[in-house]
Amino acid sequence: MSDESTDIKATFSFVSLGCAKNLVDSERMLGLLAQDGYVLVPETESPDLVIVNTCGFIDVARQESMSVIREMVDRKNAGDLKGVIVAGCLAERFKDNLLVEEPGIDQVVGVFGREEISQAAGRIVGGLVEQRTIFNPAPIRAQDDTARLRITPRHMAYLKVSEGCDRLCTFCAIPGMRGKHVTKPMDEVVREAQELVADGVKELILVAQDMTYYGMDLYGRPRLAELLQRLETEVEGLAWIRILYCYPQFFTDELYETLGSAKKILPYLDMPLQHIDDRVLRRMNRRHTRAQTESIIDRLRTTIPNLILRTTFIVGFPGETDDEFATLADFVEAKKFERMGVFVYSDEPGTPAFKLPGRIAEEVKLARQEKLMSIQRPIAEAINARFIGQDMDVIIDSPAPGGRGRAKAWIGRGFADAPDVDGVVLVKGRNLVPGDLVPCRIEATEGYDMIATALAEPDRPERAPRKPRKSSGPGGPDKPRLPILG
Ligand code: SF4
Repeated sequence: MSDESTDIKATFSFVSLGCAKNLVDSERMLGLLAQDGYVLVPETESPDLVIVNTCGFIDVARQESMSVIREMVDRKNAGDLKGVIVAGCLAERFKDNLLVEEPGIDQVVGVFGREEISQAAGRIVGGLVEQRTIFNPAPIRAQDDTARLRITPRHMAYLKVSEGCDRLCTFCAIPGMRGKHVTKPMDEVVREAQELVADGVKELILVAQDMTYYGMDLYGRPRLAELLQRLETEVEGLAWIRILYCYPQFFTDELYETLGSAKKILPYLDMPLQHIDDRVLRRMNRRHTRAQTESIIDRLRTTIPNLILRTTFIVGFPGETDDEFATLADFVEAKKFERMGVFVYSDEPGTPAFKLPGRIAEEVKLARQEKLMSIQRPIAEAINARFIGQDMDVIIDSPAPGGRGRAKAWIGRGFADAPDVDGVVLVKGRNLVPGDLVPCRIEATEGYDMIATALAEPDRPERAPRKPRKSSGPGGPDKPRLPILG
C-alpha cells in the first residue's frame, strides 16, 4: 500500500474574490486540486502555492484583485511562496496584459481554463516556465460543477444553473468574460442538488447571470419553473431553495404558479432592476420598461404572500439627468423594497456605455447613492420591525463572536435574508450548532438585523460547534464581496 503522504504534490492556499458564481468556480478548482494531490493548508503553514480567483467586474473589484495579487507576488519575492496562480474574471478580461503588468505571476488561468487548474499548479511544481497561461473559449455547454470542495458552511451551497449571459446591457463586461448563456441541463442540476444535500446542504441558493433565461438556449423556451418543481420534488432532505439574479423578463404564468404554490422555495426573490426611468433603461439596453417591471412586481406581490423582494440599482449612468434620478428615487420611495443595494456606475473599458456621452461627476454619483440609501434605510428598518413578535424558522450559520456556554448567541438567517448581501438574525439559544433550522421568536431589530430567541432546544449533548469548512488562503476564506448584476 502506498503511503498517502507520498502522493502529495504541493500545498496551497486559496483566495476567492467576487460573487457567488465565482465562489462556485473556486470550489470546483479546490475539488480538482484536492483530487490531483494538492493539499489546502492555512496561510500560516507556508503553502507552496497561492491561487487567487479574481473578480474583474467593476473598478473596486479589480483594485481589490490587483492588491491581493501584488501582496502574493511580494510574498513570493520574499521567499514565502514558490508560485502564484491568478485565475478567474480579471485573468480572463486582461489576458493580454496581466503578465506584462505583473510579471511576478507564475500562471494565469482564464475563466474556462479552470478545469485545468492542476496543470497550472503542476507547471510551477515541475519548474516548467515556458507556458504560463491557460485560456479556453467559452464552452457551448455548461461545465460540470460537481466534486467541489465547498468553502461555504456545510449546510448551505450555491448551485450554478447556467453560465454566461446573452443580454448585452451596455454597462456590463460580463458577457465578454463569461461568454454567451449556456444552460446546465436540468438532469445535471437536479443530480448536483442531490449530491449537495447528501453532503449536508439544507439551503440551496440558485445562481446564474440571468436566472429567468434558464432553458432558452438549450430547450428553446424558459424552463425555470420546471427546474424549480423538480428541485422541490426530487431532492429529498432539502429544506430551503433561494433564487437570486432574476432578470425582469420571462416571468411565465407557470413560474408565477410555481412560486406561489412552493413548499421549499423561499418567498424571497432577488431581481436586479438597475434603473426605472425608461430613457435610462434604453441607454442601458435593458429589455424591460417601467410599466413591464411594475406589472411583474405587482403580480409577484399578489402571488407570493410575504414576499421579500431584493433589488439593486445603478446610479450615475452616463447622461443620467437630475430628473431621471428623481424618477428612480421616487420609485424607491413608493415601491418599498424589502432589501436593496445601490451601485455607483463604473466606467468599464470595452463596454458600449464607455463611449456614451454625459459622464457624471464622481461626487454626484456618490451623492445619488447616498440619497437612495437614505430613502431605503428607514423603509428596510420599518419592514424588519414588522417581524417583531412573530415566529420564524432560522438557519444557524455560526456562533456569534464572544458567545460562551450553553445559552449563547448565534448568527443565523431567516427566509428574509440571503447570506453576505442581507442582514442576519442574532439568536439566543441553547445547544445549537451550525446547520440547525430552529423556530425562533423575533424580539427586536437592530438596523438591518433582527434579534431572536430560539423556541426549541435541540436534544443533543453540548459539543463544540462544528467549524464551517472554509479555505484558509491569504486574505481569509473570502465571502462573496460584490454581487454581480443580473
Ligand atoms: S447586467 Fe446581468 S443581464 Fe445585463 S449583461 Fe450583465 S450579466 Fe447579463
